[in-house]
Amino acid sequence: MELTTDEGKGLIDQIAAMNVPVFVLAGGDPIKRQDLFELIAHARKVGVRISLTPSATPLLTRVIVFRLKEAGLARLAVSLDGASAATHDRFRGMAGSFARTLNAISWANEAGLPVQINTTFSRRNIAEMDEIAALVESLPITLWSVFLLVPTGRGKLDHLLNADEFEQVFARIYRLSKTAKFDIKTTEAQHYRRYLLQQQVAERKAGVLAGPAPGKMADTIGRAPRGLNDGKGFIFISHTGEVFPSGFLPLTAASIRRQSLRDIYRESPLFMRLRDTSMLEGKCGACEFKEICGGSPARAYALTGNACAEEPCCSYIPRGYARPAALNRPATLHVLQGA
Ligand code: SF4
Repeated sequence: MELTTDEGKGLIDQIAAMNVPVFVLAGGDPIKRQDLFELIAHARKVGVRISLTPSATPLLTRVIVFRLKEAGLARLAVSLDGASAATHDRFRGMAGSFARTLNAISWANEAGLPVQINTTFSRRNIAEMDEIAALVESLPITLWSVFLLVPTGRGKLDHLLNADEFEQVFARIYRLSKTAKFDIKTTEAQHYRRYLLQQQVAERKAGVLAGPAPGKMADTIGRAPRGLNDGKGFIFISHTGEVFPSGFLPLTAASIRRQSLRDIYRESPLFMRLRDTSMLEGKCGACEFKEICGGSPARAYALTGNACAEEPCCSYIPRGYARPAALNRPATLHVLQGA
């Protein structure tokens, strides 16, 4: 059922026509596709910048990293979820994953291939946050992408951080962002933008707002000029061509086998609803930050079954917001597993 090579190339052509800044080949393990280098070369030919998130398995070798660079890969993204082999390998469930990840970073640097590190913070590694941040800071990368767990698929509800712990993660990465030689972005933590603005306003008032750290490592992909969200500047396409607003939100809009990607993105009721901030409920609907934030629809859906419900892990109370009495009841958690 996987998209064929021709379907993959057709999809890349559609992405080129939409002027998409970056196309990420994720997994499973994209290195297992026999036509991987052909697809990357095709993307380079039609002007699509590709990032790849391989699994840290024995398939990820120095030769493969150099071949990826040669084929035209724009960035390699690897996962790092612990500060040591013991904690990372336990998190990933695979012995040797930590060493392979550090090797891949080193090979990519040798090949001149920009590197992104993806870290998922959850109950399982939050205690090690400072050590992980220190390790990331010591590595030659261009981007640290900090994921905050969505309890769907293998992400369990009891691993979800609470709203105060989200703020602790935000404070740590904000501190690091002032000195790091790489950029930091969050995934499924849209309210980091609210945190960032609040800090910048406070620092501007105090006259201590500093610019970005000098000497950042650049890459050719650049950064999103506006806040993204599930279905808003972001599309997830499964290996069989089903189109989702995010890899963490198991609601499909249509298949690229039946409709163009452009039409699905622009016109599907699901995507249009997710981009319409007037549909946001609870405190997110009343929040002055909703245009740049809006919370995580994936997390709201995982916990309530409603992608427009308020972000369950944000501590901010919008100005003048009075919670309706009906919402003061403890929520019934609706956790979707195996999506
Ligand atoms: S209340 Fe909602 S929209 Fe406002 S900052 Fe929190 S998550 Fe974002």
